Amino acid sequence: MTHPDQQPVPAEETIACEFESFGLSADIVRGLKEAGFKKPSPIQEQAIPFVLAGKDMIAQAQTGTGKTAAFGLPVMSQITQNGGVEVLVVTPTRELASQVSTELFRLGKYAGVKTVAVYGGQSITRQVDLVNKGAQVLVATPGRLLDHLRSGRLKGFAPKVVVLDEADEMLDMGFLEDIEAIFEFLPKKRQTLLFSATMPKAISRLGEKILNQPVHLKITSGATTGVDIEQRYYVIAEHERTDATVRLLESEGPDRTIIFCRTKRETEALSNELISLGYVARALHGDMDQKSRERSIGAFKNAEVEILVATDVAARGLDVTGVSHVINYHMPFDAESYVHRIGRTGRAGKKGVAITLVSPFEFRSIKRIQEVTGAPMVVDQVPSIKDVETLQDQRLVQSILESKVTAGAQRVLARMEQEIELKALATKLLSMIMEKTLVSGPDQIGMRPVEIERLEKRSQGPARPGSGGGSGGRRPFKPGNFHRAGKKPYPAKH
Ligand code: ADP
Ligand code: MG
Repeated sequence: MTHPDQQPVPAEETIACEFESFGLSADIVRGLKEAGFKKPSPIQEQAIPFVLAGKDMIAQAQTGTGKTAAFGLPVMSQITQNGGVEVLVVTPTRELASQVSTELFRLGKYAGVKTVAVYGGQSITRQVDLVNKGAQVLVATPGRLLDHLRSGRLKGFAPKVVVLDEADEMLDMGFLEDIEAIFEFLPKKRQTLLFSATMPKAISRLGEKILNQPVHLKITSGATTGVDIEQRYYVIAEHERTDATVRLLESEGPDRTIIFCRTKRETEALSNELISLGYVARALHGDMDQKSRERSIGAFKNAEVEILVATDVAARGLDVTGVSHVINYHMPFDAESYVHRIGRTGRAGKKGVAITLVSPFEFRSIKRIQEVTGAPMVVDQVPSIKDVETLQDQRLVQSILESKVTAGAQRVLARMEQEIELKALATKLLSMIMEKTLVSGPDQIGMRPVEIERLEKRSQGPARPGSGGGSGGRRPFKPGNFHRAGKKPYPAKH
């Protein structure tokens, strides 16, 4: 709470909740704090002030960027509780409807906001009862909502705010006509907000029909950089790329990983190498026909494949949840593609890890990307074979301690106790279950901190501004990508 006539708030507290500075109600702030929100996401930062000001809006932002709270917080902050539904949220599926209403409930509970989700497959009378019993927010799928509206079952239905959530999905599911029909029943004087991950023509046309002088927002994945992504890079020699990748895979124990390469040939070579080591990997590149592309993506989505080895182009628009790691086997060509690549992880509020392998020649380029994107990258050292072993041992010990004892195991143990000493038995069992380590090469690969420091000093020497130089690789970076870097080259961040 920052009334102008009050003592200035200590700086720490101001930073502690940027949400407060929007002027959201105290109850809403309490709800979002309890939900663990600390910093507004980019779409929230941009949308909240306009929504609070009563503007119409058409906003494009990827899945997992926090769109629900972007409209939910400001809208619920302004609920008056004068009776009747004040906010209508239309979502494409019942899963999304229940997801959105759960999120709104969580954020709005201290503000006493009542939310009802309405979708097909539920009892109609019960839904109508709930709505008429004083819900302020109605979250609905198009078909069922239209049903209710046409039958006139919702009394005095006149929401002040209407939100179309995930509009592109509604289009894909063939709901466009239903949506247009729904608006026939809505008051002309209203605030309308349209959110979509992509912006096909049909959606912008719909926007023109239903929105009144809207604010246009577009959050490219670039803006999501670093929110929830741990970014590290490793300096390695050219020939160490594959070894370093394997060590990092082994030491990180990732769930699902996308590895980015520069060329189609590289994706094939690396995925074959990984497959031969026993990983379940697939290549994904632009020369594959649509069918095999879809097969690769599908298998990765269903978690049948743990590693996707892809080129930038092939991975464009790929939206898979649960990607724990992105590894840049080779540096991306420019800052924008770096941001696109790492945006594949760290979605939906989950923490992700982005790892970039750079050769000493590419050192300046990674520094520039860091500068342009403002990404919080840290340099790290490739784990030694010993490090990898220690980590793997720890994981094994943990999983043994956590596993349950089965009746079958007890039965076999009772029988074996006569024949073999327990320690010998344990050793044999461990040998059976311990995976063969995949790491190879010398114990130590990649540059050590002292060497990196030296490299860093050298790279801070007189830079040729705008030359895009320093990469020394086959493909120098285009100077055009680094306008902002011109001002303050190579800050000594480390
Ligand atoms: P979208 O609709 O853009 O796909 P959601 O609104 O479903 O994204 O949000 C995805 C997840 O991120 C949710 O679990 C939500 O609680 C969480 N989230 C949203 N905003 C924040 C924030 N500012 N801080 C932390 N977590 C957030
Ligand atoms: Mg959403």
